[in-house]
Amino acid sequence: MTDKTKKPLRLDPAEPAVTPPPSELEPIIEKKPLVPGTTRKRDIPQGLWTKCPGCEEMIFDKELEENLKVCPQCTHHFPITAWGRIDNLTEPESFESTDDKMASVDTLEFTGTATYADKLDKHQKKTGLRDAIVTGIGRIDKHDVAIGVMDFNFLGGSMGSVVGEKITRIIEAATERRLPAVLISSSGGARMYEGMFSLMQMAKTSAAVAYHGRQSLPYISVLTHPTTAGVMASYASLGDLIVSEPKAMIGFAGPRVIKDTTQSELPEGFQTAEFLMERGLIDAIVQRTQMKSKLSEYLDYLCLNMDKKNT
Ligand SMILES: [Zn+2]
Repeated sequence: MTDKTKKPLRLDPAEPAVTPPPSELEPIIEKKPLVPGTTRKRDIPQGLWTKCPGCEEMIFDKELEENLKVCPQCTHHFPITAWGRIDNLTEPESFESTDDKMASVDTLEFTGTATYADKLDKHQKKTGLRDAIVTGIGRIDKHDVAIGVMDFNFLGGSMGSVVGEKITRIIEAATERRLPAVLISSSGGARMYEGMFSLMQMAKTSAAVAYHGRQSLPYISVLTHPTTAGVMASYASLGDLIVSEPKAMIGFAGPRVIKDTTQSELPEGFQTAEFLMERGLIDAIVQRTQMKSKLSEYLDYLCLNMDKKNT
């Protein structure tokens, strides 16, 4: 009984009758920069340093660039452009791009928050690419190789008619010229703006890979973060050898969709390269800085029989 009478008494003074005037709040806000760490961040000029999401260290951008966008501290792999990869993997001036003028058409006249035509235009200007892949023939050490490298910066590396057609053509060129093929994927999947036209690319690219394989020609699929959906469900998972960069997210549907559909908890590390390597889907995990020497080594083995056939 006594408690009940005391409680209202305690609440009364805590209940503010009016919002305190701004002058009373300001000193409290001004004290915040005294917390260690917050002032230092503000002094760092933008565009010179990048904070690594892996180890939280600040990395000098130039150092990051020189290390192929891999954190020198914890080896976190940052995204890299298609041309950045090609420059690193192929011998200087050996790469000749193919179909580089091919650009997507807005067949469905798709309109969402922005039109597909606008999005294409924006991404072409942003990346300097016509679409989400660069294909061509270049040399990796002593091997002439048909190469396709996807660029996630272009509409999430999505596979529309152009990506599908360029892959098909470079694989067909490899079949015709009896060359090994290397495709480096990074993609959110099929391009929704092209509807069925983008889904058809899965069958077309897979068929081209099958014809290439029937000629006993090797195809190496390199998976990078992220490789998902329609791309993973077609040519990316069809390599004679499938290698991945560390900690890349690889899968078909996203983890949330799978969790909701199966109504079960997903195991730890689900859809990472390491998880899939343990279960046999991936043959090797290779750091970007080692990728060229490893690909060259794999090609040495895989092309042994091929060379014999030619002679
Ligand atoms: Zn790091």
